[in-house]
Amino acid sequence: MQALFDDYVAAAGLATELVNTAPGVWHGEDQLPDTAALAAFLAEHGVALRVGADDLAAVHDVRARLRSVLDERDADAIAAGAAALVARGIGTVGLEADERGRQQWCAQPRPDAALAGRLALLAGVGVLGALRALGPERFRDCASDTCSGVFIDTSRPGRRRYCMPDLCGNRANVAAYRARQRSRGTP
Ligand SMILES: [Zn+2]
Repeated sequence: MQALFDDYVAAAGLATELVNTAPGVWHGEDQLPDTAALAAFLAEHGVALRVGADDLAAVHDVRARLRSVLDERDADAIAAGAAALVARGIGTVGLEADERGRQQWCAQPRPDAALAGRLALLAGVGVLGALRALGPERFRDCASDTCSGVFIDTSRPGRRRYCMPDLCGNRANVAAYRARQRSRGTP
């Protein structure tokens, strides 16, 4: 599993979704409570890595560190935090051809890096790529009042508002709808 510095969108998306599995975002309920849930999460995100019994706690640790990076709003602080994550898993950096044959800077994990180190590398490269291409203002808190999630907005227009658009966007819509109904005096 390699990570391309120029192709940050998928890795930044993985970083966002990983931090938003944390119990703090789900009123105490961890969305990665066991190795089966972690394996399903990785498969969903196209990360072909086997999950061992020792990996879960280490991934939770990476997730917490990644959250503190996504909580930063200062470019230097984001870059420093992401670089520390990358350092956990990195083996080599070099130019390699991507699937279209273009030469791209590519990070390869250490051959002996465990799952959490490889995930940290991938997420860290996603954060660094997004920071460089889009800037620190794309690191945001979820706009839903009832959600403590965070996200990196890699959309072209840059107007994303929610950490989990399907869920938090709808929650906010439902809340606004109910508030309008209440103000009209209907149940
Ligand atoms: Zn949210």
